[in-house]
Amino acid sequence: MKKRIKAVIRGIVQGVGFRPFIYRLANSYHLAGHVSNTSAGVELEVEGEDEDIRAFLKAISVEKPPLALITSINTETIPLQHEKDFFILSSQTNLQRQTLISPDICICNDCLKEMFDTKDRRYLYPFINCTNCGPRYTIIDDIPYDRINTSMRKFKMCPECEREYNDPNNRRFHAEPNACETCGPRLFLYNEKRNLIDKHPIRETIRLLEKGYIVAIKGLGGFHLAVDASNEKAVKRLRKRKHREEKPLAIMSKDLEKVKSYAVLSSEEISLLTSPQRPIVIVPRNPSHSIAPSIAPDTNDVGVLLPYTPLHYLLMKGNFPALVMTSGNLSEEPICIDNDEAFNRLKHIADYFLVHNRDILQRSDDSVGKVVNGKFRLIRRSRGYVPLPIFLEHSFSTILACGAEEKNTVCLLKENQAFLSQHIGDLENLETLSFFEHVICHLKRILEIEPRIIAYDLHPEYLSTKWAKEIKGVKLIGIQHHHAHIMSCLAENRDIFSPVIGLALDGTGYGTDGHLWGGEILLVKGKEFQRIAHLSYYPLPGGNKAIKEPWRMAISYLYPVFGEEIFKLSLNLNEAIPKKHIQWIYQMIKNNINCPLSSGLGRLFDAVSALLGIKLEIAYSAQAAILLETVREDTKDSYLFNLNTSSIPWQIDPRLVIKKIIEDIKDQVPPGVISGKFHKGVVNILEKVCLLVKEKTDINKIALSGGVFQNSYILKEMENCLKKNGFVVYSHSQVPTNDAGISLGQAVIAGLIETNDR
Ligand code: ZN
Ligand code: ZN
Ligand code: FE
Repeated sequence: MKKRIKAVIRGIVQGVGFRPFIYRLANSYHLAGHVSNTSAGVELEVEGEDEDIRAFLKAISVEKPPLALITSINTETIPLQHEKDFFILSSQTNLQRQTLISPDICICNDCLKEMFDTKDRRYLYPFINCTNCGPRYTIIDDIPYDRINTSMRKFKMCPECEREYNDPNNRRFHAEPNACETCGPRLFLYNEKRNLIDKHPIRETIRLLEKGYIVAIKGLGGFHLAVDASNEKAVKRLRKRKHREEKPLAIMSKDLEKVKSYAVLSSEEISLLTSPQRPIVIVPRNPSHSIAPSIAPDTNDVGVLLPYTPLHYLLMKGNFPALVMTSGNLSEEPICIDNDEAFNRLKHIADYFLVHNRDILQRSDDSVGKVVNGKFRLIRRSRGYVPLPIFLEHSFSTILACGAEEKNTVCLLKENQAFLSQHIGDLENLETLSFFEHVICHLKRILEIEPRIIAYDLHPEYLSTKWAKEIKGVKLIGIQHHHAHIMSCLAENRDIFSPVIGLALDGTGYGTDGHLWGGEILLVKGKEFQRIAHLSYYPLPGGNKAIKEPWRMAISYLYPVFGEEIFKLSLNLNEAIPKKHIQWIYQMIKNNINCPLSSGLGRLFDAVSALLGIKLEIAYSAQAAILLETVREDTKDSYLFNLNTSSIPWQIDPRLVIKKIIEDIKDQVPPGVISGKFHKGVVNILEKVCLLVKEKTDINKIALSGGVFQNSYILKEMENCLKKNGFVVYSHSQVPTNDAGISLGQAVIAGLIETNDR
């Protein structure tokens, strides 16, 4: 029997070759009708034999194009129209926008083959792409995803490209960024005075990189600063000019073979490195490696990524084991995307500029992650992943969550989809704040979300909080930092309603008592939380300065144990820190001058690192703790924390730990062993508290969140020992455990509060 049905398909169905796929599929089942992009997704009508239609609908989900993601297919039967053919119609814009936009993904194998095929008309063309690959989110400023709404609108396709674009049997059918040498974007090489270099831009760039020059290279989501990763002098020069003296630099190699010459890869790491998202993966370095020591001086790891744009593949023909590919910015500012902006901001860093004329409309840094306990853990979720939503198990009102301060992201929530933004950065300068505002505007537009609620962190000094409080006409909801951490973990694990024990461990977050929290064991049930235990409060002498200068934290932790005896101790920091300064800090603590209280576990790691003389002043966030983890050795023994359970919240007291560390230092126990005993002690006390809480409450689900869980040892050991004790353990994977995940938790808690109020 003949039938006609209408179907609306939602998900990532635009810009991924969906309509030609439907066209071919409809033809193969002898169906007439049409398909079009709409603001809702893809809409189609097919007419034919009943069984063909049923087989066709089934095949859609099974055979869909590689980058497509279907979230729903709604069908209805409509009257027959007795058509003969199947058509692809042009886009409509009248419906409510519910379509998802694809993230940017790496060049596909078909395009790669063509690019290196001397007979192909795109031989060595650095902007080759097709419906299965290429730029997406970074070139869009509105939807539907049509060329007119992308930065490709200024390039008029040549007849040959146009023919591919209109041919449903071509891989480039409606590939919006379709282009070739004749009609598409081009490369230009300039020196730092912005004079055009009249040579083949790629060959000349390779030559310059081989000679040790620093080249700013315009990429997919921003500029990179590139330099030969085996040239120690060149790497040092880049560090100096970029004011990034110690933080690890990411490097890019041509293929896995090259990576294996300096790194040890597990099978999980290999599949991540080669995934279409192409994140930076932090992997263990091979001791006999060929890369410059100053790539990552603080750790035994190295952040690696494989080429993801056609241009990267062309540049990797050069004679170097790897290229440093660090974001093109000055220390903590956002990554440059615009040519003029790059020339202005990077002229004192780069010697040359390799730019192109396809505008980047959305900034998107490289994503970063590592494998811990067999699972990928994103530390920075950006290019390749954004703007894919996190799907929740419940639907909410429209909400904007503003995130925290460090590693800021924002989150827009609509129904059961939480759109976590790309990495924005530390909200401490005007450039980053204006990027924050841009991201909010842009996401609101392309997702058509007008938030009814704005959620913010309780810290009164965060710029994101101040920004939120200025907004009129919406409901404002403040969310406690560590509650948000735990909810972010629960949302990612799709269990937002169950009561859980939340281990929220980080450096600093504003507490409901006005002190700085960060060593928190919380009981969380949806929108409610109770602080059941925490690390004892210690003063931060000088506030933020104590975070930048871990030696101050060392004095802070020594004070209650030793009092005035501090000055008689022979400390590892005595040589580097003038006695006068130690006396000042001592007096500040003693007289309680500018000493906010902190229960941050990150601060205790800082203090131990400083006591061992490992790091007294940090150059980037969490550096002292990272170095302490790097020197860690496996030990049988551990230090013992005291637990005071006389009243709630219980106090975890590290006094005895500090005392033992000083004794061990005196006995010349190696720093690696002390670090090992300390790490183990932290795991043991947390395990003990969890078991006691379980005894008391009968809750056996645990969520792990907060920056401390970026420490691979702590994450792995906690997961394993808690599972051994019969707990259901939730940890992060797709959402960062650090403050980049906060906005997701804020959004969900605000949603739960709103649902309850209604
Ligand atoms: Zn392709
Ligand atoms: Zn062309
Ligand atoms: Fe935090």
